Amino acid sequence: MAFDSVIGHSRLRELLSRAVTHRRLPPALLFSGPAGVGKRTLALAAGRALLCDRDAGDACEACPPCRRAGRGLHPDALLVEPDGASIKIEQVREAVREIAGRPFEGRARVLVFDEAHLLTEQAQNALLKSLEEPPATSHVFLVTASPQALLPTIRSRCQMLRFSPLPQSRLETHLRDRCGLSADEARLRAALSGGSLGVALAFESEAWRDLRVELLEILEKLDRAGALGRMDAAERLAEMDDPVLALTALRSLLRDVAALRAGSPALLNADVAARLEPLARGPLGERAGEMARATGDTRDALDGRITGTNLRRGPANPLLAFDVLMDRMVRPA
Ligand SMILES: [Zn+2]
Repeated sequence: MAFDSVIGHSRLRELLSRAVTHRRLPPALLFSGPAGVGKRTLALAAGRALLCDRDAGDACEACPPCRRAGRGLHPDALLVEPDGASIKIEQVREAVREIAGRPFEGRARVLVFDEAHLLTEQAQNALLKSLEEPPATSHVFLVTASPQALLPTIRSRCQMLRFSPLPQSRLETHLRDRCGLSADEARLRAALSGGSLGVALAFESEAWRDLRVELLEILEKLDRAGALGRMDAAERLAEMDDPVLALTALRSLLRDVAALRAGSPALLNADVAARLEPLARGPLGERAGEMARATGDTRDALDGRITGTNLRRGPANPLLAFDVLMDRMVRPA
Protein backbone atom coordinates (compact mmCIF):
# COMPACT_ATOMS: atom_id res chain seq x y z
CA MET A 1 0.00 0.00 0.00
CA ALA A 2 2.94 2.28 0.53
CA PHE A 3 3.81 1.36 -3.05
CA ASP A 4 0.41 2.75 -4.10
CA SER A 5 1.56 6.23 -3.09
CA VAL A 6 3.95 6.14 -6.06
CA ILE A 7 2.48 7.21 -9.40
CA GLY A 8 3.46 5.05 -12.36
CA HIS A 9 6.69 2.96 -12.36
CA SER A 10 4.64 -0.23 -11.97
CA ARG A 11 7.51 -2.43 -13.18
CA LEU A 12 9.94 -1.00 -10.61
CA ARG A 13 7.32 -1.26 -7.89
CA GLU A 14 6.72 -4.93 -8.62
CA LEU A 15 10.42 -5.62 -8.82
CA LEU A 16 11.08 -4.06 -5.43
CA SER A 17 8.06 -5.69 -3.84
CA ARG A 18 9.20 -9.13 -5.05
CA ALA A 19 12.74 -8.48 -3.89
CA VAL A 20 11.48 -7.55 -0.41
CA THR A 21 9.27 -10.66 -0.24
CA HIS A 22 12.06 -12.99 -1.31
CA ARG A 23 14.72 -11.29 0.85
CA ARG A 24 16.64 -10.43 -2.28
CA LEU A 25 16.75 -6.66 -2.03
CA PRO A 26 20.34 -5.58 -2.80
CA PRO A 27 22.21 -3.93 0.08
CA ALA A 28 22.84 -0.79 -1.99
CA LEU A 29 20.50 0.67 -4.58
CA LEU A 30 20.90 3.74 -6.74
CA PHE A 31 17.66 5.29 -7.99
CA SER A 32 18.38 7.59 -10.91
CA GLY A 33 16.08 9.56 -13.18
CA PRO A 34 14.55 13.01 -13.60
CA ALA A 35 13.67 15.06 -10.54
CA GLY A 36 10.11 14.87 -9.30
CA VAL A 37 9.14 11.49 -10.76
CA GLY A 38 8.86 9.59 -7.47
CA LYS A 39 12.33 8.13 -6.81
CA ARG A 40 12.43 9.16 -3.17
CA THR A 41 8.81 8.16 -2.56
CA LEU A 42 9.53 4.71 -3.98
CA ALA A 43 12.71 4.31 -1.91
CA LEU A 44 10.79 5.17 1.25
CA ALA A 45 7.97 2.81 0.24
CA ALA A 46 10.45 -0.05 -0.25
CA GLY A 47 11.95 0.75 3.15
CA ARG A 48 8.55 0.65 4.78
CA ALA A 49 7.76 -2.67 3.11
CA LEU A 50 10.95 -4.03 4.72
CA LEU A 51 9.89 -2.89 8.17
CA CYS A 52 6.22 -3.91 8.09
CA ASP A 53 5.21 -6.60 10.60
CA ARG A 54 3.10 -8.45 8.05
CA ASP A 55 6.09 -8.95 5.77
CA ALA A 56 3.93 -9.20 2.65
CA GLY A 57 6.03 -7.25 0.14
CA ASP A 58 4.36 -3.92 0.89
CA ALA A 59 3.66 -1.83 3.97
CA CYS A 60 0.24 -2.62 5.46
CA GLU A 61 -0.03 0.91 6.92
CA ALA A 62 -1.81 -0.53 9.97
CA CYS A 63 0.78 -2.31 12.13
CA PRO A 64 2.77 -0.31 14.70
CA PRO A 65 6.03 -0.27 12.64
CA CYS A 66 4.11 1.00 9.60
CA ARG A 67 2.45 3.70 11.65
CA ARG A 68 5.76 4.82 13.10
CA ALA A 69 7.49 4.74 9.71
CA GLY A 70 4.58 6.69 8.23
CA ARG A 71 5.25 9.48 10.68
CA GLY A 72 9.00 9.33 10.14
CA LEU A 73 9.55 7.98 13.64
CA HIS A 74 10.76 4.42 12.99
CA PRO A 75 14.23 3.99 14.53
CA ASP A 76 15.30 1.62 11.72
CA ALA A 77 14.41 3.99 8.91
CA LEU A 78 16.69 6.94 8.31
CA LEU A 79 16.31 9.64 5.70
CA VAL A 80 19.37 11.80 5.07
CA GLU A 81 18.85 15.05 3.17
CA PRO A 82 21.24 17.86 2.26
CA ASP A 83 22.11 20.16 5.12
CA GLY A 84 22.23 23.41 3.18
CA ALA A 85 23.99 22.90 -0.15
CA SER A 86 25.47 19.47 0.52
CA ILE A 87 25.31 16.23 2.48
CA LYS A 88 28.28 16.48 4.79
CA ILE A 89 30.68 13.89 6.10
CA GLU A 90 29.36 14.23 9.65
CA GLN A 91 25.87 13.35 8.45
CA VAL A 92 27.17 10.25 6.70
CA ARG A 93 29.30 9.15 9.67
CA GLU A 94 26.33 9.42 11.99
CA ALA A 95 24.06 7.51 9.60
CA VAL A 96 26.65 4.81 8.98
CA ARG A 97 27.12 4.35 12.74
CA GLU A 98 23.38 3.86 13.01
CA ILE A 99 23.06 1.21 10.32
CA ALA A 100 26.20 -0.63 11.37
CA GLY A 101 24.34 -2.00 14.40
CA ARG A 102 21.55 -4.53 14.48
CA PRO A 103 18.05 -3.28 13.77
CA PHE A 104 16.36 -1.82 16.83
CA GLU A 105 13.05 -3.51 16.25
CA GLY A 106 12.56 -4.48 12.61
CA ARG A 107 14.10 -7.13 10.39
CA ALA A 108 16.22 -4.57 8.63
CA ARG A 109 17.57 -1.05 8.72
CA VAL A 110 16.97 1.35 5.90
CA LEU A 111 19.02 4.38 5.00
CA VAL A 112 17.80 6.70 2.23
CA PHE A 113 20.03 9.47 0.89
CA ASP A 114 17.95 12.00 -0.99
CA GLU A 115 19.76 14.23 -3.54
CA ALA A 116 22.71 11.87 -3.23
CA HIS A 117 24.70 13.80 -5.83
CA LEU A 118 25.09 16.46 -3.14
CA LEU A 119 27.20 14.12 -1.01
CA THR A 120 30.59 15.79 -0.74
CA GLU A 121 33.53 13.71 -1.94
CA GLN A 122 34.63 13.18 1.66
CA ALA A 123 31.10 12.11 2.54
CA GLN A 124 31.07 9.64 -0.35
CA ASN A 125 34.35 8.17 0.78
CA ALA A 126 32.96 7.80 4.27
CA LEU A 127 29.96 5.99 2.83
CA LEU A 128 32.06 3.74 0.65
CA LYS A 129 33.21 1.48 3.50
CA SER A 130 29.70 0.57 4.52
CA LEU A 131 28.80 -0.13 0.89
CA GLU A 132 31.82 -2.43 0.59
CA GLU A 133 30.98 -4.48 3.64
CA PRO A 134 27.31 -3.87 4.27
CA PRO A 135 25.79 -5.42 7.39
CA ALA A 136 23.43 -8.19 6.25
CA THR A 137 20.40 -6.37 7.60
CA SER A 138 21.04 -2.93 6.15
CA HIS A 139 19.80 -1.40 2.92
CA VAL A 140 21.11 1.86 1.51
CA PHE A 141 19.17 3.79 -1.14
CA LEU A 142 20.86 6.60 -3.05
CA VAL A 143 18.35 8.82 -4.81
CA THR A 144 19.56 11.27 -7.45
CA ALA A 145 18.84 12.94 -10.78
CA SER A 146 22.60 13.18 -11.47
CA PRO A 147 24.19 9.78 -10.82
CA GLN A 148 27.29 10.76 -12.80
CA ALA A 149 28.12 13.23 -10.04
CA LEU A 150 28.79 10.28 -7.73
CA LEU A 151 32.22 8.65 -7.52
CA PRO A 152 32.57 5.66 -9.85
CA THR A 153 33.49 3.56 -6.80
CA ILE A 154 30.13 4.40 -5.24
CA ARG A 155 28.18 3.73 -8.41
CA SER A 156 29.87 0.40 -9.02
CA ARG A 157 28.76 -0.86 -5.62
CA CYS A 158 25.13 -0.03 -6.19
CA GLN A 159 22.48 -1.75 -8.19
CA MET A 160 21.09 1.01 -10.40
CA LEU A 161 17.39 1.38 -11.12
CA ARG A 162 16.49 3.97 -13.75
CA PHE A 163 13.27 5.94 -13.54
CA SER A 164 11.63 7.27 -16.69
CA PRO A 165 9.60 10.46 -16.90
CA LEU A 166 5.94 9.82 -16.05
CA PRO A 167 3.57 9.49 -19.00
CA GLN A 168 1.71 12.70 -19.74
CA SER A 169 -1.73 11.09 -19.58
CA ARG A 170 -0.95 9.53 -16.18
CA LEU A 171 0.14 12.90 -14.81
CA GLU A 172 -2.88 14.67 -16.26
CA THR A 173 -5.28 12.22 -14.59
CA HIS A 174 -3.46 12.53 -11.28
CA LEU A 175 -3.45 16.34 -11.35
CA ARG A 176 -7.15 16.44 -12.20
CA ASP A 177 -8.50 13.67 -9.98
CA ARG A 178 -6.14 13.76 -7.02
CA CYS A 179 -4.90 17.36 -6.92
CA GLY A 180 -8.20 18.99 -7.84
CA LEU A 181 -6.97 20.97 -10.83
CA SER A 182 -9.34 21.88 -13.64
CA ALA A 183 -9.13 19.74 -16.77
CA ASP A 184 -7.46 22.58 -18.73
CA GLU A 185 -4.93 23.34 -16.04
CA ALA A 186 -4.14 19.63 -15.56
CA ARG A 187 -3.59 19.15 -19.29
CA LEU A 188 -1.36 22.22 -19.56
CA ARG A 189 0.77 21.32 -16.56
CA ALA A 190 1.09 17.66 -17.57
CA ALA A 191 2.19 18.69 -21.06
CA LEU A 192 4.81 21.10 -19.76
CA SER A 193 6.19 19.11 -16.87
CA GLY A 194 8.53 16.89 -18.85
CA GLY A 195 7.04 13.91 -17.02
CA SER A 196 7.82 15.25 -13.54
CA LEU A 197 5.06 15.51 -10.96
CA GLY A 198 7.32 17.81 -8.94
CA VAL A 199 7.62 20.23 -11.86
CA ALA A 200 3.88 20.00 -12.58
CA LEU A 201 3.01 20.87 -8.98
CA ALA A 202 5.51 23.72 -8.74
CA PHE A 203 4.40 25.19 -12.04
CA GLU A 204 3.36 28.82 -11.75
CA SER A 205 0.60 29.53 -14.19
CA GLU A 206 0.77 33.30 -13.80
CA ALA A 207 4.47 33.54 -14.65
CA TRP A 208 3.88 31.13 -17.49
CA ARG A 209 1.19 33.32 -19.01
CA ASP A 210 3.44 36.40 -18.85
CA LEU A 211 6.26 34.49 -20.46
CA ARG A 212 3.96 33.34 -23.25
CA VAL A 213 2.87 36.89 -24.03
CA GLU A 214 6.50 37.87 -24.50
CA LEU A 215 7.16 34.88 -26.75
CA LEU A 216 4.09 35.60 -28.85
CA GLU A 217 5.42 39.11 -29.43
CA ILE A 218 8.71 37.66 -30.61
CA LEU A 219 6.99 35.22 -32.97
CA GLU A 220 4.65 37.86 -34.35
CA LYS A 221 7.56 40.17 -35.24
CA LEU A 222 9.86 37.47 -36.52
CA ASP A 223 8.82 37.43 -40.17
CA ARG A 224 9.37 41.13 -40.56
CA ALA A 225 12.54 41.13 -38.48
CA GLY A 226 15.83 41.37 -40.31
CA ALA A 227 19.00 39.67 -39.16
CA LEU A 228 19.40 42.25 -36.38
CA GLY A 229 15.82 41.75 -35.25
CA ARG A 230 16.40 38.02 -35.02
CA MET A 231 19.56 38.54 -33.01
CA ASP A 232 17.61 40.80 -30.71
CA ALA A 233 14.96 38.10 -30.29
CA ALA A 234 17.67 35.57 -29.48
CA GLU A 235 19.10 37.92 -26.89
CA ARG A 236 15.71 38.40 -25.28
CA LEU A 237 15.35 34.63 -25.01
CA ALA A 238 18.83 34.15 -23.58
CA GLU A 239 18.25 36.83 -20.97
CA MET A 240 15.03 35.36 -19.66
CA ASP A 241 15.08 34.19 -16.03
CA ASP A 242 14.64 30.60 -17.02
CA PRO A 243 15.69 29.97 -20.66
CA VAL A 244 14.75 26.28 -20.38
CA LEU A 245 11.21 27.21 -19.34
CA ALA A 246 11.10 29.83 -22.13
CA LEU A 247 11.98 27.15 -24.67
CA THR A 248 9.36 24.82 -23.21
CA ALA A 249 6.78 27.58 -23.65
CA LEU A 250 8.02 28.37 -27.15
CA ARG A 251 7.74 24.72 -28.12
CA SER A 252 4.17 24.52 -26.85
CA LEU A 253 3.23 27.63 -28.86
CA LEU A 254 4.84 26.25 -32.01
CA ARG A 255 3.05 22.92 -31.54
CA ASP A 256 -0.22 24.78 -31.34
CA VAL A 257 0.59 26.79 -34.47
CA ALA A 258 1.26 23.50 -36.27
CA ALA A 259 -1.96 21.99 -34.89
CA LEU A 260 -4.00 24.99 -36.07
CA ARG A 261 -2.39 24.79 -39.48
CA ALA A 262 -3.41 21.11 -39.64
CA GLY A 263 -6.95 22.02 -38.56
CA SER A 264 -6.76 20.40 -35.12
CA PRO A 265 -8.84 22.11 -32.42
CA ALA A 266 -6.95 20.58 -29.44
CA LEU A 267 -4.60 23.32 -28.27
CA LEU A 268 -2.44 23.60 -25.19
CA ASN A 269 -2.69 27.36 -25.30
CA ALA A 270 -6.35 27.57 -26.21
CA ASP A 271 -6.73 30.90 -24.39
CA VAL A 272 -4.46 32.66 -26.92
CA ALA A 273 -5.85 30.92 -30.01
CA ALA A 274 -6.78 34.28 -31.54
CA ARG A 275 -3.10 35.26 -31.64
CA LEU A 276 -1.95 31.84 -32.81
CA GLU A 277 -4.28 31.68 -35.80
CA PRO A 278 -2.59 34.44 -37.86
CA LEU A 279 0.76 32.78 -37.18
CA ALA A 280 -0.62 29.46 -38.43
CA ARG A 281 -1.79 31.08 -41.67
CA GLY A 282 1.54 32.87 -42.13
CA PRO A 283 4.91 31.51 -43.31
CA LEU A 284 5.73 30.11 -39.86
CA GLY A 285 2.68 27.85 -40.03
CA GLU A 286 4.27 25.58 -42.60
CA ARG A 287 7.41 24.95 -40.57
CA ALA A 288 5.92 25.15 -37.07
CA GLY A 289 5.98 21.40 -36.48
CA GLU A 290 9.62 21.12 -37.48
CA MET A 291 10.49 24.23 -35.44
CA ALA A 292 8.71 22.81 -32.38
CA ARG A 293 11.00 19.78 -32.59
CA ALA A 294 14.10 21.96 -33.08
CA THR A 295 13.05 24.06 -30.09
CA GLY A 296 12.60 20.90 -28.03
CA ASP A 297 16.10 19.72 -29.02
CA THR A 298 17.62 23.06 -28.06
CA ARG A 299 15.73 22.93 -24.79
CA ASP A 300 17.00 19.44 -23.96
CA ALA A 301 20.57 20.36 -24.86
CA LEU A 302 20.44 23.47 -22.71
CA ASP A 303 18.80 21.61 -19.84
CA GLY A 304 21.54 18.99 -20.01
CA ARG A 305 24.16 21.72 -19.86
CA ILE A 306 22.52 23.46 -16.93
CA THR A 307 21.89 20.39 -14.77
CA GLY A 308 25.20 18.84 -15.79
CA THR A 309 23.56 15.58 -16.89
CA ASN A 310 25.67 15.55 -20.03
CA LEU A 311 28.40 18.10 -20.18
CA ARG A 312 29.45 17.40 -23.74
CA ARG A 313 26.04 17.51 -25.32
CA GLY A 314 24.92 21.04 -24.51
CA PRO A 315 25.82 24.07 -26.58
CA ALA A 316 28.79 25.97 -25.19
CA ASN A 317 26.92 29.21 -25.61
CA PRO A 318 23.14 29.42 -25.12
CA LEU A 319 22.95 32.72 -27.01
CA LEU A 320 24.45 31.05 -30.06
CA ALA A 321 21.88 28.25 -29.80
CA PHE A 322 19.08 30.84 -29.69
CA ASP A 323 20.60 32.70 -32.68
CA VAL A 324 20.56 29.51 -34.72
CA LEU A 325 17.01 28.76 -33.65
CA MET A 326 15.68 32.22 -34.54
CA ASP A 327 17.41 32.08 -37.91
CA ARG A 328 15.80 28.73 -38.67
CA MET A 329 12.38 30.17 -37.89
CA VAL A 330 12.57 32.40 -40.96
CA ARG A 331 15.10 30.58 -43.12
CA PRO A 332 14.47 26.86 -43.42
CA ALA A 333 17.62 24.78 -42.99
ZN1 LIG B 1 2.65 -2.93 8.45
